[in-house]
Amino acid sequence: MVFSACQDQIVNESTNGQAVYSTANKPTEVPPPVIKTISAPDSAISIAPPTPTSVSTDESPPTPTQPVSTIQSGERLAETSTVEVVKPAVPPTFTSPPEPEASPWDHYWFRRPVPDDTALWTDKAYPYGNTRGGLLRPHHGVEFNVPMGTDIYAAASGQIIFAGEDTETIVGPDPGFYGQVLVIQHDFTLEGQPVYSLYGHLSETLLGPGQEVESGELIALSGASGVADGPHLHFETRIGANSYQSTRNPLLWLYPFPERGVVAGNISWPDGQSAAEVPLALRRLDGESPFAATTTYAEASINSDDNWDENFAFDDVAAGYYLLIVGSGEDKTEKELWVYPMQTNYVEIQLGE
Ligand SMILES: [Zn+2]
Repeated sequence: MVFSACQDQIVNESTNGQAVYSTANKPTEVPPPVIKTISAPDSAISIAPPTPTSVSTDESPPTPTQPVSTIQSGERLAETSTVEVVKPAVPPTFTSPPEPEASPWDHYWFRRPVPDDTALWTDKAYPYGNTRGGLLRPHHGVEFNVPMGTDIYAAASGQIIFAGEDTETIVGPDPGFYGQVLVIQHDFTLEGQPVYSLYGHLSETLLGPGQEVESGELIALSGASGVADGPHLHFETRIGANSYQSTRNPLLWLYPFPERGVVAGNISWPDGQSAAEVPLALRRLDGESPFAATTTYAEASINSDDNWDENFAFDDVAAGYYLLIVGSGEDKTEKELWVYPMQTNYVEIQLGE
């Protein structure tokens, strides 16, 4: 897959929760996002955000203009022998409907925790909830494939609550799993719940518990400590509690690259049960774009966002018109959707409908 096109696009700053970008190739100082703590005392649902499906294809986006060639030439000639077969003069055109407002359920409040000149893209081969084809335990975070000793930055402001080896204090599933690891409790909450970010398999932590950090502050160096098959950063988002059982998909927290958004959704079986480890692919219909593939979350122990209830997510999808392909072969199900930048583009599909 080709991702190099945008690797020089730099996240510069964040204001009002909106990312501002430039292509300057320099380390960035990212002011903390303005925190949109939802303060409805009873429940978030009561504030009646737009329904997630309003972002999906249920709105029936305009059908791409069909070229004349879609008419079967045999039919035309059968009607009259004087009509010539007309070749399409122009390819199909696509006009996006007006961009919907981002849902209040969105929380793209984290900058990327690695330098701009390294692997800013998350590893697509081992996303959140994935088992890499059953080879690995379900992933509770995402990977940034950075070399040994890379500067690691705080994804947002907060206070460090753990830094060091996780041999005595269990931070992951087992003692020593994350090796040198650092956890930040952020100075904002999500609907009253504390928000944490975790940085695992480090070679060195540079700050200690109790220290306050700003977004983008240097906190550690990457490594391959703990259970890791090579140098990379394991990045986790935890909500409500600092525990391995409380993770959420970081792809719904890291703000996207310019003109890119997130496609997330829920794939269920005909009986309504969540469909686990179903292959998914995204194919762009209105232009060239790298092919993207993922799978739905592996099992029920993988948490979804409390509001979205998603079981898959694609990050950094260029804005455009797409075909989401669920499954493969004769069993595949397809759905078209518009992808808008800087927001969650939600799709719900019940298989066998
Ligand atoms: Zn990982």
